[in-house]
Order: sequence, then C-alpha cells, then structure tokens
Amino acid sequence: MIPYGRQWVDEEDIASVVEVLRSPWLTTGPKVEEFERAVATLVGAEHAVAVSSGTAALHAAMYAIGVGPGDEVILPPMTFAATANAVLFQGGEPVFVDVEPDTLLIDPQKVEDAISSKTKAVVAVDYAGQPCNYHELRSICEEHGLVLVADACHSLGGSYRGNPVGSLADLNVFSFHPVKPITTGEGGMVTTNNPEFAERMRRFRNHCISTDYRQREKEGSWFYQVTDLGYNYRLTDIQAALGISQLKKLPAWIERRQEIARIYTEAFANIGEIEPLREQSDIFHAYHLYVVRCERRDELFSKLRSKGIGVNVHYIPVHLHPLYRERFGTGEGLCPLAEEAYREILSLPIFPALKEVEVSKVIETLLGILKQ
Ligand SMILES: *Cc1c(COP(=O)(O)O)cnc(C)c1O
Repeated sequence: MIPYGRQWVDEEDIASVVEVLRSPWLTTGPKVEEFERAVATLVGAEHAVAVSSGTAALHAAMYAIGVGPGDEVILPPMTFAATANAVLFQGGEPVFVDVEPDTLLIDPQKVEDAISSKTKAVVAVDYAGQPCNYHELRSICEEHGLVLVADACHSLGGSYRGNPVGSLADLNVFSFHPVKPITTGEGGMVTTNNPEFAERMRRFRNHCISTDYRQREKEGSWFYQVTDLGYNYRLTDIQAALGISQLKKLPAWIERRQEIARIYTEAFANIGEIEPLREQSDIFHAYHLYVVRCERRDELFSKLRSKGIGVNVHYIPVHLHPLYRERFGTGEGLCPLAEEAYREILSLPIFPALKEVEVSKVIETLLGILKQ
C-alpha cells in the first residue's frame, strides 16, 4: 500500500540519534536547545519552545495565553481534533467558524462575526500546508485585542507574502509526528516573539517548576517551587537530535512536495469530476496534504484502497465528534461549508520519498476508476 504520508529517515539521521545515546544527556540537554535555535532561526522567530507533541504544543500555547473557564477561542472545524481539544484542556470553550470552500482555510470575515466579549484568541489552521490569510487575521486580532495562534502542524517550510510560517502569528505551533514535514517520532514546538509567552511555556512543559535542574546544579541548591499546574511535556535530546538532522532536509523536501502537487494538478486540469483545492496567491505551500474534492469520494476511497493506494480523509469536522456534540451541543448545520467539503475530500499520497512511478500509478488508477 502506498500511504498518504510517510517519514524519511536516513543514515545521517540515525547517526545523530546514536551519538546522543552515547552522551551524558538523554533529555533536557544541549540538543533540545540546539533544535529550538535551529527552528527559531529557520522561521525567523525570537523564541522556540520544544515539547513532546503537537498536541502538547497547542496545550502550552493555550496556557501561555491564559485561556481558562469562561474564555472562548475561535477556530475552524476542518482540523485534527487536538486543535480544539487543547482549548478544552484549559477549560475554555471552542467556537467553530466555517472555512472557505475552495481552500478549506478559516474565513476571516466569519472570524470577525464570531467575536464576543468572551473571545480570547483565534487559532488559524494552515490546512494541508497552505498558510491562512494572515494579513486579514492579524488586523482583526489587533483591532479586537485577541491573540492569534497558528496551528502550523502542516505548514513548516511554507511562507506567506515572503514571511516564513512560524513568524506569522503570536504563537505558532508545530508537530513532528512521522507524517508531518519533519519528524522526531513524537514531538512539537511553539515559536513566538513574545518572551513572556516563551517563559510560561518553558515552565509549563516541566510541571511549572520555578527553576530548572541545571540552574539548581549551578547554584548548588535543591530548592524549587511548583508555581502552577504544569505537565511533563519535555522533548528528549534523542528526539531533538533527529529533528536537527531532519530540518536540514526540509527545503528540498518541500520542493519535492510541490513538484508532486504540480504533477497531480496538471493531470486533473481537464477532469471535471476532480477538483484540487485552490492555492492562494503570494504563498509558498508546504503541501503536507494533497486534497481534491470529488462527488464520488466514497467510491473512489474504497476502490483506490483496494488497489493499494492509501488515500485518506482529512478531516471529520471536529464539531461533529460525539465529545463536542455532547458537551457543547454542536452538530450539523453549524459549519455547512466544512460539512459539505467533508463529504467530498480525499487526500492523495504525497511525501518526499514518493517515487515518480508511484505518482503515475496514483493518477492512472484514479482516472481509471472515474472512467468506469
Ligand atoms: C498532527 C496535528 C496535530 C497534533 O500533533 P501531534 O504531534 O500528533 O500531537 C494538531 N493539529 C494538526 C492540524 C495536526 O495535523
């Protein structure tokens, strides 16, 4: 089966992990800081805080902002459930706002319409790797005094109007799960230019302990204080070493993803039944996913799967999950454009190691099914 996404780990990656295994620091050591600096430099942000997953990164972002009971956070339903779950972790309430039908990115006008006196933040999701309309989102958030968070789990390596993803929102969240642009096995990071946010997240990932281990060693002290409720969301040096090594390949990998996307888009140009999502102008698309809309989605899904093409559906709109229906009374009709898209979307295989012949096989198999 050709999967929809897959990691690429080479001998150089393996050697850098092995080197850490032979070193004194397996966690909370120099590789974590080196990885944070490398990502911060790449995306043009002042601070980067590494954590144990993209979900932990979202949670840390909600904590940094101070989301709590009584606060609303605006976000799109066309995302992985973790985006909204992070709001719930902190006791806040997610407010789902519909997407634009041709990009599946959050609609800035609808964001503005959903703002209330309880709104604390907006989370934009760079769906499929395409940066959202940050120009409009920023100006709306500035006008209303809201924090803008980018769920950039799909879009590391992308850019918007020449500015890299990771520098576009107040807090920018990444995941290093194996299907994502680079991997550390599990892992995540938040980038920000706000030193206070960064400091809060550094404490949050380590039980909100007031001093870290090395600081205490240096001062010859055993004393520490738990100042708030935090978690163990630390990334290991083993994972960070893999991340540092993977990051070097990111630009070439994004180029390759774009090349595959171009081949697909050209192949479907005259096929009325297959509609690729629209690319906005003046963006650099990271193409974590290649998504098409098609009315015969369910038929295509099962026939492609039976022929060894691992297509997938991203995503079931979050407000349709039982957790949200039961807790917040959400359901059909809340975000009709996302719900309609959900019935038609199909993610085709796209990842840097995908071979030319495999891309051709996906296209030929898909077109063959349509002719039946
Ligand atoms: C993968 C992903 C997450 C969660 O990241 P994990 O590292 O799996 O915890 C959150 N949001 C989006 C949009 C994602 O794709």
